[in-house]
Amino acid sequence: MKYLFLVIYCFILSTISAQTPITGRTTGRLPYMDYGLGTDRLGGAKMNYLDTGILVKVIDSTGDVYKVQLSTQHAAYLPKTNFKVDTAAKPKPSYLTGSWRVNGDSAYDYVTIGLPERLPYRTQQQIDPSRIVIDIFGATSNTNWVTQLKTVKEVKNVWHEQLEDDVFRIYIELKHAQHWGYFVYYKNNILTVRVKRQPEKLKVKHLNIAIDAGHGGSNAGASGTNTKIQEKDYTLLIAKQVEKYLKKKGANLYMTRNEDVDLGMIDRTLMLREQDPNVMVSIHLNSSSNATVSGTSTYYRYIGFRPLTQHILDRMLALGLNNFGNVGSFNFALSGPTEYPNCLVEVAFLSNAEDEKRINDPKFHKQVAKQIYKGIKDWLKSLD
Ligand SMILES: [Zn+2]
Repeated sequence: MKYLFLVIYCFILSTISAQTPITGRTTGRLPYMDYGLGTDRLGGAKMNYLDTGILVKVIDSTGDVYKVQLSTQHAAYLPKTNFKVDTAAKPKPSYLTGSWRVNGDSAYDYVTIGLPERLPYRTQQQIDPSRIVIDIFGATSNTNWVTQLKTVKEVKNVWHEQLEDDVFRIYIELKHAQHWGYFVYYKNNILTVRVKRQPEKLKVKHLNIAIDAGHGGSNAGASGTNTKIQEKDYTLLIAKQVEKYLKKKGANLYMTRNEDVDLGMIDRTLMLREQDPNVMVSIHLNSSSNATVSGTSTYYRYIGFRPLTQHILDRMLALGLNNFGNVGSFNFALSGPTEYPNCLVEVAFLSNAEDEKRINDPKFHKQVAKQIYKGIKDWLKSLD
C-alpha cells in the first residue's frame, strides 16, 4: 500500500515537472550538463563542469537526469544529484549583462562580467586563432563598458556578440597559439574567467606536472588475459617511473595517488583543480574483447589540448607499439577539466598477448616514462 502511494506521488511529481518548470540551482561537488540523452561506457557527451548555485529551470525528467531549459532554443540535461529546488528564485525571461573588467594579478588574467543572476554557461576552445568562447544562456547585452587593463599577459582581445535574443557570447582571444587552460566560476553574481598564462620558460624543468595513475583500491580496472595482472597496479608502476624520470629532469611533480587506494574521479578532478598544474597526464592500460586489438593511444576532449596528445603519441609509437590512434572529443572524466592541458595515455592493451608481455616488463615502464618526457619536451619545443 505504502508503495502504491509512492508510485502515485512520483507520478504526480513527474506530471508536474513535465508541465510547470521547477526552478532550482546547481549543487554538488562537480556539477555538469550533458548535451543529450546519449550514453556510452563513460556516460553521455558532457559540456564543461559548472559552478554551483547556477539558476536552472527543469522542464522534464527522464531517469536520473532533468531536462533544463537554458534559453528559448537551448536545453541540456543535468544529473538529478546536481539539482536542488530554490523556491525563492523567480526566474525572468532574460537578464541584462553589465560591465566587464579585463585585468591580471601576479599569476592569472581575469575577464569578469557583471550579471544580475548566476546563469548557465557553456565554453569551447577554438584554435588558429586561439580563443576561449563562452555562451551565457538567458543573457541579453547591456554591456556598455569593457575596461581593459595592462596587467594582462595572456588575453589579447575580448569582445562579445548577441548570438540569439537570450544567448550572449563572449570571445577571449589569447596571445599564444597554445591553450594553457581557463577556469570559469562565479564570484557572487560576477562571471569570472580565470585565464592561465603561458609559462615564461617552455622547459620541462620549469613546469608543474601532474601524473594520474588510473584506477586503484577496489577499482582494479582491466586485467591481463594471460597473467591476470591488474591495471591499477601497472598504471601505478608506470606512473611512478614517469614521476621519477620527470623529477630527474627538474620538473615539479604531483601524483594523484602513490599507493593502491580508492580514488574517485570527482576527488581526482578536485585535487587537480587545487594543484592547478601546467600539464596533466593520466596513465591507463587498454582492454578489448578482441584479443587481436593492440597498440598505444592518446586522448583529449578539447581541441586546444590536442597538440600535447599528438606529441606524446608520436613518442610512444617509437617504442614499436601499434598505432591505436589519437582520439578527440573523449568523454573521460579527467579529460573534462579546462584548467590545464591534459592527456590520457592508454599505454597498451592488457587483452593482447604481445602488449601484455611488454606491460609486464619493468624495462618497458622506464621506456614509457622516457617517451612521455620526450613527448612533453617536443610539444614545448613546438611552441617556442
Ligand atoms: Zn583504465
